[in-house]
Amino acid sequence: APAPPPGWHLFSDPAEVESLRGNLLAWYDRCKRNLPWRALAAMEPDANRRGYAVWVSEIMLQQTQVATVIDYYNRWMQKWPTLQALAQASLEEVNELWAGLGYYSRGKRLQEAARKVVSELAGQMPRTAEDLQKLLPGVGRYTAGAIASISYGQATGVVDGNVIRVLCRLRCIGADSSSPAVIDRLWDMANVLVDRNRPGDFNQALMELGATVCVPKAPLCGECPVRQHCRARCRKLFGKPLPVPDVEDCGVGDCTLCPPATEPWDTSLGVTNFPRKAAKKPPRAMRTATCVLERRGCRGAPEFLIVQRPSSGLLAGLWEFPSLSLAQDLQEEKEREVLADHLQAWMGQPVAAKDLQFIGEVIHIFSHIHQTYMVYSLPLDGDVTLDPASSPSRWVTEKEFHASAVSTAMKKVL
Ligand code: SF4
Repeated sequence: APAPPPGWHLFSDPAEVESLRGNLLAWYDRCKRNLPWRALAAMEPDANRRGYAVWVSEIMLQQTQVATVIDYYNRWMQKWPTLQALAQASLEEVNELWAGLGYYSRGKRLQEAARKVVSELAGQMPRTAEDLQKLLPGVGRYTAGAIASISYGQATGVVDGNVIRVLCRLRCIGADSSSPAVIDRLWDMANVLVDRNRPGDFNQALMELGATVCVPKAPLCGECPVRQHCRARCRKLFGKPLPVPDVEDCGVGDCTLCPPATEPWDTSLGVTNFPRKAAKKPPRAMRTATCVLERRGCRGAPEFLIVQRPSSGLLAGLWEFPSLSLAQDLQEEKEREVLADHLQAWMGQPVAAKDLQFIGEVIHIFSHIHQTYMVYSLPLDGDVTLDPASSPSRWVTEKEFHASAVSTAMKKVL
């Protein structure tokens, strides 16, 4: 079978690139969403502050929906409007503000990087994608490209999940979109496409298109500003890709960007044939026993004991009810015993397994872990003397609990 000509999947016609840029930017100017970081970046004359404002938004938006980020972003920028302010914050304050946003290491790394800019780079943000990626911890290729193009006008492309979807559809790329070979081609494409005069707007427009029009399940192709450049749509409408010189069809032969021969175009899927991903590994199942220790506080209101997690690993530095990882197949009776032993060693006083009241299960999905919390409660009459050698701990009211750096999973447990 003939292979497609080199470049068939890419953007090799300058006139087409020009037209696509124009259509996309005109649409963006008409339809873009009003988002606080866009307003801040547009109004801020100081490039350093602009870079910081975009950087915070990009880190928060990784793995998190725009609607969720807005409130966190506004509170963050109010509390730490500059890099210098953030560099002076404590990790505890950062974790408290980040509580509920998930992927907690993001906040920690953001703050570490701010400290580095202040102490090692004289408070000046790096100005190019290359330097941003090289010098700032937690800033990868995508984030560096976004900050450099949006804040500093560098003509450099970006590739995130939305861009992957749009580009794979525009060019019928059906090979595994998470494979290094495909990702490299997509970066090449993003760098060819990016508008030289308005790189930040162009990148945001491409991502916005993926977020609002070229969505994963039911894309709005009829409203799409770049539909005349879309080969997936063309294939859906006319049954095969646009005619190309020398070959009638693409999807056969050794093309590294076409769908594999074993999984050809599926007519029922239309444009959502693209992108394709290798099957994800199922999340790891974990079980944890957690105990809500409760006492009457001095004003009669209930208080709960929380302890701080280690400063590295999952949910680093966050607070939780005393918890213990369990083997998957442990019986309830045995589970109660090991939890009682754990609490006893830790509290320095006897805890009877029968006093632990089983409340129920809470399931929480972390990115790669399917966590089941077996929730127990233990009301206490007197005070507890905690072992000072163990993790930091404190008693909190319900209100204080919610204002603390606790994960969403622990809020569900309460
Ligand atoms: Fe996506 Fe449809 Fe636009 Fe193609 S025409 S880019 S599939 S929304």
